[in-house]
Amino acid sequence: MIQGIGASDGIAIGKVYKYEPVEVVITREICQDVKAEQLKFDHSIKAGIEALEILKTKTENEMDAETAAIFGAHIEILRDPELAIAVADKIASEQVKAEYALKTVSDSFVAIFEAMEDAYIRERAADIKDVTRRVLMILKGVQSKGLSEIDEPIILVAKDLTPSDTALLNRELVLGFITDIGGRTSHSAIMARTMEIPAVVGTINGFDQLDNGDLVILDGVKGEIMIHPSEEDIQNYKEKIALLNREKSLWQACLGQKSTTKDFKDIDLAANIGSPEDIDGVIFNDGDGIGLYRTEFLYMGRKNFPTEDEQYESYKTVLEKMGEKPVVIRTLDIGGDKELSYFDMPKELNPFLGNRALRLCLQNMDMFKTQLRALLRAAIHGNLHIMFPMIATIDEFRKAKAVLYEVEQELEMEKIVYSKNYQTGIMIEIPAAALLADVFAKEVDFFSIGTNDLIQYTFAADRMNEHVSYLYQPYNPSLLKLIKMVTEAAHKEGKWVGMCGEMAGEIQALPLLIGLGLDELSMSAPSILRARYSLKQIDSIKAKGLADMALQACTQEEVKVLMDAFWNGK
Ligand code: PEP
Ligand code: MG
Repeated sequence: MIQGIGASDGIAIGKVYKYEPVEVVITREICQDVKAEQLKFDHSIKAGIEALEILKTKTENEMDAETAAIFGAHIEILRDPELAIAVADKIASEQVKAEYALKTVSDSFVAIFEAMEDAYIRERAADIKDVTRRVLMILKGVQSKGLSEIDEPIILVAKDLTPSDTALLNRELVLGFITDIGGRTSHSAIMARTMEIPAVVGTINGFDQLDNGDLVILDGVKGEIMIHPSEEDIQNYKEKIALLNREKSLWQACLGQKSTTKDFKDIDLAANIGSPEDIDGVIFNDGDGIGLYRTEFLYMGRKNFPTEDEQYESYKTVLEKMGEKPVVIRTLDIGGDKELSYFDMPKELNPFLGNRALRLCLQNMDMFKTQLRALLRAAIHGNLHIMFPMIATIDEFRKAKAVLYEVEQELEMEKIVYSKNYQTGIMIEIPAAALLADVFAKEVDFFSIGTNDLIQYTFAADRMNEHVSYLYQPYNPSLLKLIKMVTEAAHKEGKWVGMCGEMAGEIQALPLLIGLGLDELSMSAPSILRARYSLKQIDSIKAKGLADMALQACTQEEVKVLMDAFWNGK
């Protein structure tokens, strides 16, 4: 048995297919004809861009704009004249072949980037490597063995899967995947959930333990891989898969129904989105609203800030398409691991504890006001909720509100059409804000609990680091107490509380979250109907009993036992 992190629900039974990227070996070779070599290089860049355009469109159609933006950024690298000039110079000055010139130029860029302290710039080095590899393969005529060769149903095993790899996976043939690297909030894990492919990540040395052709059972819920299962194991798991398929048709039957518990308590089951293109998936899955629109993706994968009008159009589209349903739009949350290539941010030793999100917006007033103007103008088109991220103190919230007020005045003076008909809330991501929720509750219209960050800051454990992933403990009573403080404080003031971190989409946790008093849960769109179906089986009074017991527990394991008992006893 191999234990990893369950990254995408579902069970797969199949044979292992180990995937290792092909090595492209480049040596220094002199060329005969400099002009021909430069032409060859130009063609390879063109072919690389064409391949990436196809991949980008495929990703846009089959996944989401947020993921597709990664390939947009790769195209930008290939279009960068600095790269083309440096390679052309190298070919001409040293009379070397294009592949060697490209490899050395790219290596020098990568070395500079990798030496930077800044995590974002280091990540750009990985992008340059990925793109260079793509062009080198074209230049050397190397066929990408591996993913494209899969022609039968398999379980893919890799040390790591890049976003390019994951986007290429054939959903019909790849029954599931296993990677040594990553956690629940890493790129490949988030993509697997959107693609509905069962996955286990963070197995650390699973790749070395498995051989091509090994029969395995992958349990994406428990994060377990069973090697050489017995006939009996296979039979048991086949029954589980059949049950899961029957359940899926029950979930579908919840389309168009209200999201209520067994005793008719209304809970909004909303969706997290990254761009207006994601709305169709939300409508398809009948979401009760948008619980989190991460606007930072509008700012990424481009060369300059989106204008007020561009932003207005995006917000308007989302608000209009959702009609009267609530739409929570979060103001820009950059910094930490999310940076903008065109915005110069000072290097920091601890970017996750540094100048990010609202802190950064309050220090860059033009950028902040542009977004707020676009939001207030778009407010006339629907049910807008503006949400500020990374709030630690009430002063920060008051300052943000004051800027909102200033923006209203400016629009008024300029006689620009806007609406004051919107709600204002904050994300609870920092323990300081949870502890002072009673103070905030008097001034905000709503809260949304961002458990991804709240867990990271409560346990002092970097959410991107698989070595401390055991501290991602959503059910630890310490976190549950913080959640309870927030819901109690909000309800005392007649305000509502949502949750938009990954925890909100954990079906197993549904009774616990209802019992803790959450009014809204926001998750990836494909999870909504399953949550609606499960909600109908939960009695809210019994759920409250479960939460009370969980709050008395000492460990996350104890809480998991209580949750299992709840589901078994219903
Ligand atoms: C969170 O922190 O839980 C959250 C929803 O925000 P993000 O994942 O974008 O940081
Ligand atoms: Mg967050």
